[in-house]
Amino acid sequence: MSGPFSLHGRTALVTGARTGIGRAVAVALAAAGADLVLLGRTGDLHDTEKAVRGTGRAARTLALDLSRPREIPAACEALLDRQRIDILVNNAGVIHRGPVETTGYDDWRAVLDVNLDAVFLLSRACGAAMAARGSGKIVTIASLLSFQGGVNVASYAASKHAVAGLTKALANEWGPHGVQANALAPGYIATANTRPLRDDPAREAEIRGRIPAGRWGRPEDLAGAAVFLASPAADYVNGHVLVVDGGWMAR
Ligand code: NAP
Repeated sequence: MSGPFSLHGRTALVTGARTGIGRAVAVALAAAGADLVLLGRTGDLHDTEKAVRGTGRAARTLALDLSRPREIPAACEALLDRQRIDILVNNAGVIHRGPVETTGYDDWRAVLDVNLDAVFLLSRACGAAMAARGSGKIVTIASLLSFQGGVNVASYAASKHAVAGLTKALANEWGPHGVQANALAPGYIATANTRPLRDDPAREAEIRGRIPAGRWGRPEDLAGAAVFLASPAADYVNGHVLVVDGGWMAR
């Protein structure tokens, strides 16, 4: 495949690639021609690795627990010493559900560590190398809760608002050096992240009822937008938060 959406000759690092959106995005980037580095909390990414190889592209795995931000810089340095990363997809994320008054500081920090601190540290390491080379793409998975407050998910909403701001800051700093930083804001997607919502019939119906598409999203619904933002077709798109939500935000 050639043309503006081709990722041939590029290597993409996708975090949280074992399941859900990360897995679907990794396989889509491979189908568009990219080789993959699949980052997981443990090295157990065999299923995604197999799916990527099935597209004919190379895949290697990297075990790194992003809940320990202080370990991230050294791991990035070791990776970047032996591997060029052209595309970084900051996908790994966690959620804590509960009212603010019962959300402990440790609960708060656990979400911010993975959803924000790790995104900053990975972007800093990979983005600096991209800027030095004069090209690269950073795609961060944001959320509708980059725009809205949600219900009983204060730390998550704060982290997702923050990554939208970080994305714009990176775009401003590295745009002059040929690096585009954008975010993808998925709507309500059927993954482990949203399992508790779908297990509550009233909440499930309430959410589905507001989605003009009339259904929950599937991880594959993010594939085209992710390939777009990672590709030369988006070379003049920078600092944008692209909503892929079946129309939720239009309601
Ligand atoms: P998911 O299936 O739970 O995926 C989350 C991924 O993050 C998993 O692969 C998980 O790896 C990884 N992860 C969590 N903690 C990690 C850690 N400490 N170190 C490394 N990796 C870690 O849910 P998902 O819906 O696909 O979530 C992917 C992203 O989309 C998240 O940023 C989420 O906030 C965002 N998002 C989801 C929705 C939705 O409706 N589903 C909507 C908006 C945004 P392990 O399985 O190995 O722990």
